Amino acid sequence: MTTKEMLRVEQLNKSFGDLHVLKNVDLNVDESDVVVLIGASGSGKSTLLRCLNFLEMKDDGKIVLEGEQIEKETHNLNKIREHVGMVFQHFNLFPHKTVLENVIEAPVLVKNIPKEQAIEEGKALLDKVGLGDKYDVYPSTLSGGQKQRVAIARSLAMKPDVMLFDEPTSALDPELVGEVLATMKELADEGMTMIVVTHEMGFAKEVADWVVYMHDGKIVEYGRPDEIFNHPKEKRTQEFLSSIL
Ligand code: ADP
Ligand code: MG
Repeated sequence: MTTKEMLRVEQLNKSFGDLHVLKNVDLNVDESDVVVLIGASGSGKSTLLRCLNFLEMKDDGKIVLEGEQIEKETHNLNKIREHVGMVFQHFNLFPHKTVLENVIEAPVLVKNIPKEQAIEEGKALLDKVGLGDKYDVYPSTLSGGQKQRVAIARSLAMKPDVMLFDEPTSALDPELVGEVLATMKELADEGMTMIVVTHEMGFAKEVADWVVYMHDGKIVEYGRPDEIFNHPKEKRTQEFLSSIL
């Protein structure tokens, strides 16, 4: 099997004032890889994802997407964001729009996809995430798990090359976590390139190609799930895992 690089991060640094949040972060993600990012609260996981989606601007270092080094001076970041989808802990659906309207909003307004086509594709995406009977309802009538699946469909509607997930199940009632993880697993099985911040270690063990452990703004350890979970090399990784498992 040939592998193609999708995303490369080199020596990324980011500070908020005096707080140095990302410290020389290096990361390589090949096409169709699922990378699960773990680490304690405050270790910089969200900031890293936000830098990769250019919601935050790095201070220095390189972000290379599909072979192209992306800089705010040379690239239209709104265009770049179309290639990098992001799903957050909180779904941020438009409450006054139906489920289908939420999904077609960006393709129609941002990408100028003809409305008919956006509707057809939006419906197919909602079918795919198991919400084929919910096109015309409003988000307030949905469970948290259903809302998050709408958020995933909405993000997929832009046809991203990479999907970033920042604790997508953390705000859900425990009984709703599984349906969202199942949707994500399906996406992974279809070959989507994904970077996922999660505390769901079962998902990480089953779905991740690589697990990255972050501590205090640095990548401390990087490996296959079996290595990280069963034979972590670094003491900090061992301590973190024993604190959560
Ligand atoms: P994690 O997602 O691993 O919990 P974050 O990336 O959210 O970590 O945060 C890393 C550190 O950066 C924390 O100390 C947090 O308080 C700080 N931080 C995050 N965003 C901002 C911001 N916009 N302004 C100032 N500090 C921030
Ligand atoms: Mg976070």
